[in-house]
Amino acid sequence: MGKQPFVTLEEVERIVKEYPTPFHLYDEKGIRENARSVYEAFSWNKGFREYFAVKATPNPFLMQILHEEGCGCDCSSMTELQLSEAIGVTGEEIMFSSNDTPPEEFRKAAQLGAIINLDDITHIDIVERELGTLPETMSCRFNPGGFYKLSNGIMDNPGDSKYGMTEEQIFDAFRILKEKGVKHFGIHAFLVSNTVGNDYYPTLAATLFRLAVRLNEETGAHISFINLSGGVGIPYRPEETAADIAKIGQGVHEVYDHVLTAHGMDDVRIFTEMGRFMMGPYGCLITKAINEKHIYKEYIGVDACAANLMRPAMYGAYHHVTVLGKENAACDQEYDIVGSLCENNDKFAIDRMLPKIDMGDYLVIHDTGAHGFSMGYNYNGRLWSAELLKKEDGSIQLIRRAQEAKDYFATFDCFPVYEKLLN
Ligand SMILES: *Cc1c(COP(=O)(O)O)cnc(C)c1O
Repeated sequence: MGKQPFVTLEEVERIVKEYPTPFHLYDEKGIRENARSVYEAFSWNKGFREYFAVKATPNPFLMQILHEEGCGCDCSSMTELQLSEAIGVTGEEIMFSSNDTPPEEFRKAAQLGAIINLDDITHIDIVERELGTLPETMSCRFNPGGFYKLSNGIMDNPGDSKYGMTEEQIFDAFRILKEKGVKHFGIHAFLVSNTVGNDYYPTLAATLFRLAVRLNEETGAHISFINLSGGVGIPYRPEETAADIAKIGQGVHEVYDHVLTAHGMDDVRIFTEMGRFMMGPYGCLITKAINEKHIYKEYIGVDACAANLMRPAMYGAYHHVTVLGKENAACDQEYDIVGSLCENNDKFAIDRMLPKIDMGDYLVIHDTGAHGFSMGYNYNGRLWSAELLKKEDGSIQLIRRAQEAKDYFATFDCFPVYEKLLN
């Protein structure tokens, strides 16, 4: 039943001889197989590309694996652009989908030849000023406002979100860009996050395809791509069903034929910018039970904390927990699994039914492969963990060492007795 870790107790016992807990572990085989299924699902579209949302898991080793599977990089900051450049992803393999963008980041994106996806109409002038001239290919981010509803009732509130241009603005933006010499246009929107149903992309595609037809008719702009962005979810809970990417691709295909092909726009490339779907299930946080506490509730203290995985503390997000070696034991104990921060929301699980946990047991906190390590912080002076890769042949590779005190203190090099901190 439910979720099986991609690592066994025996493997973890071997790993910890070299790399102590806590650490994030990633599964190369799972990452590659999933990426291939994404390309398969959209193989009907000539020129399809997934731009991996780097912010989800900004690790060059993992970005490189995805690049080998054909993925580009979706960047939204200077350091994400630098990471992409470092692994040899440049030019149209970078989608720069930023917002509230510092001007120097537009310059860096342009220098790398990235596709610039404008979050706002005022950015046209800024990009022109920074670059001297506009690139031939440009994209605009759309925000339809109001509420966005899917057939399964999932809804979000774009009218309340800071992203994108209004409909009127995107028409104006296309006209202005066209006058200024832009030749190829893209449209982008990100309306609902973490959707596990199969109808988000097809519904969004219908909205964007219809918009594309009108933009083409009214401004004469050549729409060369439509970017469905991210938002495809993963089943964090064992009772949830995974999104079926083949069905999603099929659903987008049908809308494509119905709207775009019917209007003679059959050369439009489909782009995606998934983060969570590409990486979420293929990472986990391995941590050790180090304290138990019996007060008004039963607590298990582990050696990881919210600094290593913030989602439960920040959103109350569910992450499934497996006690390694006790995969088939009865879940007859109720625990709160907590970290050490002096913050009462530092709880990986609350009122969770699990097998009896003994000190020294290893816990797998599932689905930390996206928006996991990368949201980490250093509160309470807690340090970042290592990141490890389980390669296809089962061997383990260090892909980011654990942060040490000297790294944490490095920016105090303006402190008169900085050296004392390094002891
Ligand atoms: C965060 C983000 C993504 C990825 O979102 P997921 O939910 O991880 O798929 C893609 N594009 C943009 C612009 C984003 O901000």
